[in-house]
Order: sequence, then structure tokens, then C-alpha cells
Amino acid sequence: MNPIRSIKGTHDILPADSQNWQQLEQIVRTVCQRFGYNEIRTPIFEETRLYSRSVGENTDIVSKEMYSWDDKDGKSITLRPELTASVVRSFIQHNLGGQAPVQRLYYMGPLFRRERPQKGRQRQFHQFGVEAFGSENPEQDAEIIAIAWHILLECGLSENATLHLNSIGSPNCRKAYREALKNFIRPNLSLFSETSQKRFETNPLRILDTKADHEQKMLKDAPKVSDCFSDDDMAHFESVQNFLKVMNIPFILNEKLVRGLDYYSRTVFEFTSSALGAQDALLGGGRYDGLVETLGGKATPGIGFAAGMERFLIAMAETEVLSRESKIDVYFVCLDEAGLSTALSLANKLRQAGFNVVSDPLRRSLKAQMRDANKSGAKYALILGETEMETDSIVLKNLEKSEQETVSQKNILEKLRNLTN
Ligand code: AMP
Repeated sequence: MNPIRSIKGTHDILPADSQNWQQLEQIVRTVCQRFGYNEIRTPIFEETRLYSRSVGENTDIVSKEMYSWDDKDGKSITLRPELTASVVRSFIQHNLGGQAPVQRLYYMGPLFRRERPQKGRQRQFHQFGVEAFGSENPEQDAEIIAIAWHILLECGLSENATLHLNSIGSPNCRKAYREALKNFIRPNLSLFSETSQKRFETNPLRILDTKADHEQKMLKDAPKVSDCFSDDDMAHFESVQNFLKVMNIPFILNEKLVRGLDYYSRTVFEFTSSALGAQDALLGGGRYDGLVETLGGKATPGIGFAAGMERFLIAMAETEVLSRESKIDVYFVCLDEAGLSTALSLANKLRQAGFNVVSDPLRRSLKAQMRDANKSGAKYALILGETEMETDSIVLKNLEKSEQETVSQKNILEKLRNLTN
């Protein structure tokens, strides 16, 4: 039989890397808690119509990237390709809006998109993100961006990161802008790529996202979304900028940033990182004031962002933040079969007291076990041989200093406690 391998675009997170993941997860949790955000966990799969209604039929995600199937009862099911839709579904289903005027939520977990795999782009990937429901005021936008900024700071990524900021106005403004943009592009439409031509009909704002230089050149003098702003849109966007300045969060205005999904309105933003390659977007988000209503809930403003965890970790590899410190306190070396019961009972007592203890289950030689102990990164080795068994003692070796002493078994827990306090 051919060996079975993981599916293209999916990756195992191996023990050598999982510590990095845990450190990133810890930073996210700590910062979110600092802002008063609580975790929400939603199912990995949902009804397909959740995404077609919220993300939009004409987006890349819904039109070509979803993993969907018909379940046995005929219902179309999809592996979640993003998390805002699920969080909003849950917000409505459990009437979270009725429980508090502002709901502050964060999440972490895997997502699925059938994209072309490359560095920083996978078919199963992970995001963390935050969502705040209940306020349409610009200070809420500034708070959401501040959470992203604090996480970037803690991850050591703030220096290489650039915050791109834009406002795409409220829905009426967008409608007018859509037409203005189409009128601008129409005379030269045949010079645009097939993708852009398709977007012209379905999602013209997305044409501004194009990476092709010749298209960007043609778009140089395109009308600006700000031309269609209402006074309120303008005042909102200016306040967001002022609040960011007050908090010393640097940003650049990027009129071409529109974000791909249908549900955004007003503030949109993205953090890119120069520590990444072609896929340089670390994190993206925006305001979605109409989404709760679109999905059948009471009109409730909302704003959030989602960040790619794989990309965070690629960028963090260049920083000092990820530590490779061993989590093992004690490596237990037992040299004689007759000592196993004592070894097991002593090791267990240490674990109960909170020490991380690893022991060798292969009954190997002293040399082999000591080599393993040193490799494990443990601070101490406890060595139980024939002599120690006869005298109810144990050898305690400091592996960093290569010093050792004999301690009575009765006192070993206290001894270790004193050494590690
Ligand atoms: P989006 O949900 O498309 O706004 O993406 C938010 C963030 O998720 C991006 O900025 C990326 O960091 C990350 N991301 C999106 N798609 C992928 C993917 N296929 N593989 C890895 N990371 C991704």
C-alpha cells in the first residue's frame, strides 16, 4: 500500500513547532483579555447559505474556494472558510445582543479554503480574530485596531508592519461609488484581465485590489471612494484617524484597500509585514454594520479583524519572541529493574507537586539515558541505581552546571522545591 500522506495544502503541526503556536495563542489570549474580550468557539461546519448570504455569492471564497457537500438530509454544508459569519450567526441565535449592549468576542481556530497552496497560503489554515458588536462609534474602530497593534507589539512584529487604512463609506456611498468606478473603467475594460472583467460585473470594487502593474496604472486616476462620502462617513473616518494618532498607532491611508467581502462598510484596514513574501497580509478587518441584519438579526453595528496565524509565525521566526525553552524540570533515570516501583512512585509524587517529569521507558544504559536527559533540556536529572536503592537515597544532578549530590528520597521533593523557588 502507498503510504498515506496529508492532503495537499494541509500541514501537520509537529511537536517542534507546537510550542511556537502555544506562545502565539498565549499572546492573543493575554491581549484580548487585557481589552475585556471573551473567547467564542463555534462549530467547524455550518450551513452553506450562511456564507453565500454574508460573505457574498460573487466573492472568490464563495464562488470557488469553499469545501461544501450535501449532507444525508440534503442540506448543503460547508467547512467554515472564515469566522465572522459564524460569530454573527451565533450572536443572533443566542441573543448575545440582548445580554449586554456591547459584546466583545475573540476566536481562534482552523479555516478551509480551496486556494492554490504556496508559502503563507494553505487550504487548511488558522486565524485568530476579534469582533465587537453594539457600537458604530469611531472609538470602537480605534479599539479594534489597537488590539491588533498590541498583539503585533507583543509578537515583535510592529516594526515590520504597516497599517493600511481606508473607509469605503456607508452602503449608499458604496452604491454611488460602484457606478462611478464602472463608468471610469468601462472605456478601457477590454484592456483589463479576464478576472478583472468578471469582477466588473460582479464585484467592481475588487478590481482595485489587482496586483497587476498595468492595471494599477490604468486605475491611477480612478475616482476615489471618498468623493462619495456623506458628511457622517467623512466625520467618522476622520475620528478614527485622530484616535489612532492619540494612541501612537502609525498608519497609511490606502484608497485602493477595499477588502474582498461583501459585508464591509466604512472603516477597512489591513496590516502587512515586510517580513513576509508575496503573501504579505498579516491581518485584515473592517466594519460590518449591516451584517447582523442581513443574517436575520436586529440591526446591530459590528467591527472586527481576522489574522493568519501561519503568517504570524513565519514573521515571528525572525524575532526573539519565540523561546525554545524546555518545559521539562526533571529527567528521571532508573538504572535497575528492581528500582522501577520506587522510580514510578517518586516521579509521580513530584508530578503531583507540579514538577514536569520525564522518565525513560526503554530500560537503557546510564550513558544512553543521560544523553537523552541532556538532549531533553531538563534542568535536573534524578538517578536511581542499586546503591541508592540500598540507602533510600537518590542522585540529584544539575544538568546545566554538571554538579551532583546525593539526597535522601524522603527529602527530594523539598530539595527540588527549594532549588526551583
Ligand atoms: P481574510 O479572512 O481573507 O480577510 O484573511 C485574513 C488573514 O488570514 C489574511 O491576512 C492572512 O493572514 C490569513 N489568510 C487568509 N487566507 C489564507 C490562506 N489560504 N492560508 C493562510 N493564511 C491565510
